[in-house]
Amino acid sequence: MTDRLYYHDSFLYDFEAEVAEIRTDARPALILNRSAFYPTSGGQIFDTGTIEAGAETLRVTEVVDAEDGRVVHYLEAPVKDLPPGTRVRGQIDAARRRDHMQQHSGQHVLSAAFVRLHNLHTVSFHMADDYCSIDLDTPTLTKDQIDTAERLANEIILENRPVDIRFVNREEAGKLGLRKLPATDRDQLRIIDIHEFDLSACGGTHVNQTGQIGCILLRKVERVRQGWRIEFVAGQRAVATARRDFTTLTDTAGLFSAHIYDVPQQARKSLDEVRTLRKQREQAQEELAVAQAAALLAETPESNGRRLVIRTFSERDMNSLKLLAQKLTRLANNVLVLLASTSPQPSVVFAQSAGQPFDMGALMKQTMAILNGRGGGSKDIAQGGVPTADGLQSALDAATKTLSV
Ligand SMILES: [Zn+2]
Repeated sequence: MTDRLYYHDSFLYDFEAEVAEIRTDARPALILNRSAFYPTSGGQIFDTGTIEAGAETLRVTEVVDAEDGRVVHYLEAPVKDLPPGTRVRGQIDAARRRDHMQQHSGQHVLSAAFVRLHNLHTVSFHMADDYCSIDLDTPTLTKDQIDTAERLANEIILENRPVDIRFVNREEAGKLGLRKLPATDRDQLRIIDIHEFDLSACGGTHVNQTGQIGCILLRKVERVRQGWRIEFVAGQRAVATARRDFTTLTDTAGLFSAHIYDVPQQARKSLDEVRTLRKQREQAQEELAVAQAAALLAETPESNGRRLVIRTFSERDMNSLKLLAQKLTRLANNVLVLLASTSPQPSVVFAQSAGQPFDMGALMKQTMAILNGRGGGSKDIAQGGVPTADGLQSALDAATKTLSV
């Protein structure tokens, strides 16, 4: 078993130890007789840092709790020979450890606050690189419950209560009224005691005084399978997150030339305007298509009892072509339409008035085969998109011939 120095002192960033074993297989690793490095467990993630062995400095990239009770330090690069008993010096990344202590201790305070105020119990804790979350075992969670728990957690932090570590046996632990009893069958339990606020059994690293957590900020709240998930950030992460939020909000407010607190109102107003304008535009397009269809039809002479409208436009999208084709074929019962647009996306629309004998879907398939495009449709209207506008004109000519037979 590795002697875990962090059990007794979470602020020990520098320690001396002896090599117990080196592993030189696929993933080089080092096992020491004692270590201050925290291995991932209980929702808290591992420490990183360095191990100095003589003139060599080994970078520790991950730390794992092995089943045999030993702490395995995975290394960035393979180690040369390092016999058991060699004295080494370990240094953990203090900023990362401090951040983890703030998040993890913050979680103890927050979970206890939900129990104290609302009898809501935490069923799991997750720590990621940018935020943490707890899952509460409850079918409902109100805004007031969230606000009051956040407030109490921050009050406990401000009161700077001592956080003590105690070791007790199982029997004693049972009498203490712990918030969380661990699933382990170990005889000795490590109790984290936040003075007159929370008692829980935990093997993680914690602050000495709640003031070292700094502050706690609740963020996203969402329904999950087993209850409600609450994202939160503590300490420097909370400050960095609040700073990022403020920058985002300020940039957004700048777009509206508004105060940040007026952003939702301004955004709603803009969206309403967009909706109104979109409706107006649709109506204008509709009216324009009717007028254009009437003009086109007026200048198209009848031949063999039908009127064939052929046009190539620039700057028309597929929807606009389709709209025009629909208007044309509804204005009279003897209309055939072959429309194309060269940009923004080269497109083709074929249509006929209801009751006309051709198959525009089949004609579109033939045309697409010539132009290397994709498209299809029904007997009366069909559409296609092609990779380039080259050849559009000759393809329309070929389709015209088919319809003139
Ligand atoms: Zn803990």
